[in-house]
Amino acid sequence: MGAHVYVAERTLPPRPSPSHEVCHTCANGHGGCVSPHHLVWGTRLENVRDAIRDGTFSPPPRFTGTAHSNSKFSDELIAHALSLIEAGETITAAAKATGISVPHLSHIKQGKAREWAKK
Ligand SMILES: [Zn+2]
Repeated sequence: MGAHVYVAERTLPPRPSPSHEVCHTCANGHGGCVSPHHLVWGTRLENVRDAIRDGTFSPPPRFTGTAHSNSKFSDELIAHALSLIEAGETITAAAKATGISVPHLSHIKQGKAREWAKK
């Protein structure tokens, strides 16, 4: 468990649900901020949204090799983008978060939708 979680569990009201995460209001979570005044409970989606807004969202390191949009995206990255959309994120935000272009991602999503419809 991270230090920020340790601080949050001792200073914030009880965690609203097991799926809530500790979010930073100061956009410096990645910098290791553990100020109790900067910590709030939030859902995964809220946390990702904040990170996208603050420009601190980064996909897991293994994805960074595909910096150029012409390269093929891994299944994991595509699954990650689709999970963001399923969680209620917009295609634009999910595209931005994963580095996949909006047209490409919406194409993938439509393909997935067709796949699911067949089942
Ligand atoms: Zn802070």
